[in-house]
Amino acid sequence: NCVDRHLKDRGDEIALIWEKDEPGQQQLYTYKQLADLVGKIGNLLRNNGVKAGDRVAIYLPKTPVAVATMLACARIGAIHNVVFAGFSADALAGRINDARAEIVVTSNQAVRAGRTIELKKTVDQAVKKCPGVRQVLVYYRTETEVPLNRLDINMNKALEHESPDCPVTERQSEDTLFMLYTSGSTGSPKGITHSTAGYLLYANVTFKHVFDFQPGERFGCVADIGWITGHSYALYGPLSNGGTSLLFESTPLYPDPGRYWEMVERLKLNHIYLAPTSLRMLLKAGDSYVKKYDRSSLRKLGCVGEPLNHEAWEWYYEVVGEKRCDIIDTWWQTETGGICISPRPSEIGAEIKPAMPMRPMLGIDLALVDPEGREIKGDDAAGSLCIRKSWPGIARTIHGDHERYINTYFSPVPGLYYTGDGAHRHPGGYYQITGRMDDVLNVSGHRIGTAEIEDVM
Ligand code: AMP
Repeated sequence: NCVDRHLKDRGDEIALIWEKDEPGQQQLYTYKQLADLVGKIGNLLRNNGVKAGDRVAIYLPKTPVAVATMLACARIGAIHNVVFAGFSADALAGRINDARAEIVVTSNQAVRAGRTIELKKTVDQAVKKCPGVRQVLVYYRTETEVPLNRLDINMNKALEHESPDCPVTERQSEDTLFMLYTSGSTGSPKGITHSTAGYLLYANVTFKHVFDFQPGERFGCVADIGWITGHSYALYGPLSNGGTSLLFESTPLYPDPGRYWEMVERLKLNHIYLAPTSLRMLLKAGDSYVKKYDRSSLRKLGCVGEPLNHEAWEWYYEVVGEKRCDIIDTWWQTETGGICISPRPSEIGAEIKPAMPMRPMLGIDLALVDPEGREIKGDDAAGSLCIRKSWPGIARTIHGDHERYINTYFSPVPGLYYTGDGAHRHPGGYYQITGRMDDVLNVSGHRIGTAEIEDVM
């Protein structure tokens, strides 16, 4: 769905734009080139004994090889388990062991903001604690040689001998597509597990309708593929729609706070999708870094991850978007698979209010609940945000611990999906997120979210 389906009509169109850490150095991959890479990696994995249902740990920088490895897993029915390549050896080992992954895919080094990071060394330390790992594939992101041990395979060399022709392993709609660890407020990280058909459908539909993505557009989701945002909106959403997706390997401040906007001008991006934290950092650096670049290609300005406060919203709208672009504040979670609240889709030109994601996505039935678990009706109400009915992208389980899945998401309020976030419903039925429920401050008997305080400050 993300590759083969597009080969006939748009094989020569650009699937991926790899914006390397090195400023100004992009590399383009057409759908045909991506198909070849996915096929070769699929064969490499298969020839190394990876079968349908096996877990593959991916600890790679945001590169076309990382995306192709994820898609190669999907192709042969294996379950990818991407671990953010900034996590420590212990965090990586914990996730490899919990997933019982036998294969790890990594790179010799990573480069980030001009610095070299010894990724392979971290994997070596981690693998010492993972008796189940039988092979480590090492992709050379840089020219630097690293010692290869008994378990290691030089991936670049091995791929030279693989054929791009890799038959697909058929999967059932409810088979697992991938797992991704997320931290809870208590206990060990949870291996959130997503389904093949439901997840992909939800990523596809939300991408198309929330961002009003049009054929031929270039979408710039700058999140790392180690997070769900990178999965849904740098890979599965854009590629299943036959779009062009940016893989941003660097940081917003490297070499200076103009990086995003210089990139928008050079690559003619139509959409940018980022985190409020980076926006607040850039706001502090001043308007000149934005204004010196041409941003006329931009059509929609998205954000996700935490509440977008008024000040940052205004800056995004007025300075970055010159009041031309919709601000698309999207609320969702690793567990929801895709966007659940956002100002669009809506009636054409409907109002967008600052500092809130506003409207439930098609099919998302929201409820607010009080501390006793009773539903709060009416507008101008605040409570615990729950979702009444299931939707295609909902996580199906926590790997190896279905009971924890039930306890975390379905026991707090019986019959509803419990998000763990607080929300305020404003007149018109518009939702504003007030932060995590476990972040609540009790002031003179009033429960106030940290996000509400941050916004006032
Ligand atoms: P994660 O699963 O790591 O992506 O984190 C999900 C959490 O991020 C949510 O439960 C919220 O607390 C927070 N979050 C995500 N998007 C937004 C948003 N647009 N506004 C407010 N909080 C958000």
